[in-house]
Amino acid sequence: MSYGFETLAIHAGQEPDGRTGAVIPPIFQTSTFAQDAVGAPRLGYDYSRSGNPTRDSLQECLAALEGGRHGLTFASGLAAEDTLLRAVCKPGDHVVIPDDAYGGTYRLFAKVAQPWGIDFTPARLTDVDAVRAAVTDKTRLIWVETPTNPLLGIADIAALAQVARDAGALLVVDNTFASPYLQQPLALGADVVVHSTTKYVGGHSDVVGGALVLNDETVFEQAKFHQNSMGAVNGPFDAWLTLRGVKTLAVRMDRHCDNAERITEYLSRHPKVAKVLYPGLPDHPNHEVAAKQMRRFGGMISFRTGDPASAEAVCNRAKVFTLAESLGGVESLIEHPGRMTHASVAGSALEVPADLVRLSVGIETADDLLADLEQALG
Ligand SMILES: *Cc1c(COP(=O)(O)O)cnc(C)c1O
Repeated sequence: MSYGFETLAIHAGQEPDGRTGAVIPPIFQTSTFAQDAVGAPRLGYDYSRSGNPTRDSLQECLAALEGGRHGLTFASGLAAEDTLLRAVCKPGDHVVIPDDAYGGTYRLFAKVAQPWGIDFTPARLTDVDAVRAAVTDKTRLIWVETPTNPLLGIADIAALAQVARDAGALLVVDNTFASPYLQQPLALGADVVVHSTTKYVGGHSDVVGGALVLNDETVFEQAKFHQNSMGAVNGPFDAWLTLRGVKTLAVRMDRHCDNAERITEYLSRHPKVAKVLYPGLPDHPNHEVAAKQMRRFGGMISFRTGDPASAEAVCNRAKVFTLAESLGGVESLIEHPGRMTHASVAGSALEVPADLVRLSVGIETADDLLADLEQALG
């Protein structure tokens, strides 16, 4: 029997506890496990960096939600990315990255991976030919974000999966913005899904974490080996908080989308807004691709005000929207990417417009969010 998304979010990897019947899997807040004899751990658990039952619950649940065979979770999204990078790349390899990647992802490639010997080329992922042109005979990974952060560009996952297959490379999709409820990259041909579970998956802005989901046994064994060898694992309490959050992912995402649709409609008509970037708008350059590969269009909206000073003023005046980095929580956030989340890409090919404002639309009362934007736009 195969279950629906909402059922899997609540039950996959989360059977009632075998010993006590506790409906919610316990937080196994332990570093080590008693062994019955030398070399005979009871359920295969011997040390919590190598394996922990609470982490296993989360790993199993996320794998089920992405429709993948294997899940691995980490202390942060970047820890997941770094572990994957070192598990599958070696010095001399090449990676194609998005030309508007998450700032921290760009920094990982530019300041950590490149000095270690992994070369990279930023490419416009919305242009399949540009990605194909960026591939070299050393390319090991094509790294995709869709929707992108903060410009809400849309990459055609199925088309890029074909480019990766032709190149003998792996297609990695950072699915943080969409979440598995809105988009399932593995079914579209991706090899690995990356998440910052800090965002929509956890959903409550109370825990930092990351995940990889994949099908290939060899890549899984390499990544699992590196998870243990590098040790950037999430603790049991963090895994439990993320599991608690993910149970409501579907209902939260639907409300994020409802509110975002109301707000894009409002912003599109506002005289002080020069441009609204949202994949659900028919005038978005890749709206058709988004409609093909996403269930709905998500809770992230960016807009341009025409000049940097007014963009900053809107951010400073907002009240219900909290001025903060990060995204994907139940509460609405507003930020200025140029001086906040994307300050690390200033001066690079990934620099973002200075009049850009990014919204992470929460699940508050839509009218309150609209009224707040009304006063903030002045
Ligand atoms: C936040 C984020 C990351 C990094 O995740 P952390 O949990 O902060 O390490 C990676 N990709 C995207 C798209 C993000 O938004």
